[in-house]
Amino acid sequence: MGQKSLTNRSMDNRPLDILNTVFGYPGFRGQQAEIVDHIVRGGDALVLMPTGGGKSLCYQIPALIRHGLGIVVSPLIALMRDQVQSLQQVGVKAEFLNSALSPNEARDVEAAIAAGTLDLLYVAPERATRESFIALADRIPLALIAIDEAHCVSQWGHDFRPEYLALDMLHSRFPNVPRVALTATADGPTRREIALRLGLEQAREFIDGFDRPNIRYRIAVQGDARRQLLGLLQAHEGESGIVYCHTRRRVEETATWLRGRGYEALAYHAGLDARLRSENQQQFILGEGVIVVATVAFGMGIDKPNVRFVAHLNLPRSLEAYYQETGRAGRDGLPADAWMSYGLQDVITLRGLMQQSQAGERVKRVEQQKLESMLGYCESTRCRRQVLLEYFGESIHEPCGNCDTCLDPPDTWDGTEAARKGLSCVYRTGQRFGVGHLVDVLRGKDTDRVRRFAHDRTSTFGVGRDLNDAEWRAVFRQLIASGMLAIDPEGFGGLRLTGRARPVLRGEQALTLRKELLSTPRKAEKKRSAAREPLADSDRPLWEALREKRMELARKQGVPPYVIFNDATLLAMVRLRPVDLADLATITGVGAVRLERYGETFLDVIGEHPSSISGA
Ligand code: ADP
Ligand code: ZN
Repeated sequence: MGQKSLTNRSMDNRPLDILNTVFGYPGFRGQQAEIVDHIVRGGDALVLMPTGGGKSLCYQIPALIRHGLGIVVSPLIALMRDQVQSLQQVGVKAEFLNSALSPNEARDVEAAIAAGTLDLLYVAPERATRESFIALADRIPLALIAIDEAHCVSQWGHDFRPEYLALDMLHSRFPNVPRVALTATADGPTRREIALRLGLEQAREFIDGFDRPNIRYRIAVQGDARRQLLGLLQAHEGESGIVYCHTRRRVEETATWLRGRGYEALAYHAGLDARLRSENQQQFILGEGVIVVATVAFGMGIDKPNVRFVAHLNLPRSLEAYYQETGRAGRDGLPADAWMSYGLQDVITLRGLMQQSQAGERVKRVEQQKLESMLGYCESTRCRRQVLLEYFGESIHEPCGNCDTCLDPPDTWDGTEAARKGLSCVYRTGQRFGVGHLVDVLRGKDTDRVRRFAHDRTSTFGVGRDLNDAEWRAVFRQLIASGMLAIDPEGFGGLRLTGRARPVLRGEQALTLRKELLSTPRKAEKKRSAAREPLADSDRPLWEALREKRMELARKQGVPPYVIFNDATLLAMVRLRPVDLADLATITGVGAVRLERYGETFLDVIGEHPSSISGA
């Protein structure tokens, strides 16, 4: 088994053939063609691609070409179901084997495996390493073994799954079967850990850029968070999205409030019972226009391609988390929004939580650094995408043109003097007070605290009357972001100077600060920048009709609408208005089986909506 039977040239076009006829896509993206070719020839691979990059095809196509069954290890039932349903739609014989199946169903799948009638089998890691499964797999030829979400093997990551550690045994049991591990996790240490723990040190690495050009990054300073959120939602009427909050209570409150405003908003957090959680998740996947308000517990295993926005109502704890969470938007490559609103209190809260955690000092230090990078990203005056990608060791030369700083360049001002005043105030008051009190002192306010500590007698009392409260808070945020001030680890928000503050205090270093976040925090929103309307008004009725038809078909089959056709395909139908099956077949995402199953139905809908020739 696993012999390289396909090395002759005549086979070279098979991957493209399958891509065209089965999946209905005109061409490979990025490194897909190379990866497919490498695996088809029996090579091992480690594939790193951003979310939505198209990892699945990298093993699905080789599994169809190589002789035998393709085994795909996947960590979550929802992921497996989604993939299998999509494959079945295009006529591929795929099944999954996990705890969601009844014993009878599982037996049927096992019988199909033994009979050699399946192309692809998705299986949970604990089952893949079970002796009974190995014995079954041993009796049939295997095309390949794919390990999806391979970063689950990393003990340092958020998604660690102990069962993944046992997967290296598949290698010793099936030494001649090509293996491919896939992940969207960017960083080098995790990559090396994957290779090491899965015995893939010799595998060829395919590393794609991590940019998600269709995602628009925007950040606002917390003002009226709800009003800000509504602004975002208005640009996404009828679309699906995720709203992340720090706490369960905030999740519940926000979901309830959104429902009160007429949105279909569902809560998701670890405190809900498992049944309700999975119901809400299902509704999100199967529905259209559902908003999930969630803690970070939500998202892993959500493959829904048409999530149009991800909102953060609090600061995530690291850029890794931010990147992963925002990455759930726009997997289909269509425009999507990643929007965040945050305040200094978030930093203080996170700092406190990190300190209280049971983790060792080293881990805490790393977490603290990650939080600082996160804050630095928020306060940066540079292109968001450039800062984000640089953090992951990549770079783009030009500003992206699709983030708030690019679209609405922030004004800057010479904050050297203000910074000196702020830093001196921290020093004069004993390096233990939080921003609220420091601002009171700077602005010369007569408060109980000021009097109690005799801070009206310090040299910095009242020296900052030229700035208002919000402006001072922005100055302090930027001083913290640039590492000149550190927040006490206890979570009370007390600030102290670091070594980096010295040059500014001594007048040796000038500081440029960001103004836009400072005085007109909502300027960026005025442009309604999310409104990159992909559709003309005259096309709306057809778009809605196609979506309705898709939903009707999906309901009948109990599958998510996007496995029938994804949004990009429907959009192409609206734009091209195909008149017959041959026309329709040229559209991306329309393969042979879908064409046969749904072609006439969708052509009928299109026929009922002739395009307006008047060109009005
Ligand atoms: P990932 O697993 O990397 O997040 P997927 O494999 O789910 O991404 O692919 C994301 C989306 O892109 C899917 O809807 C998929 O069908 C589509 N896609 C993948 N490769 C291509 C391609 N070559 N042409 C067009 N669409 C593609
Ligand atoms: Zn940019």
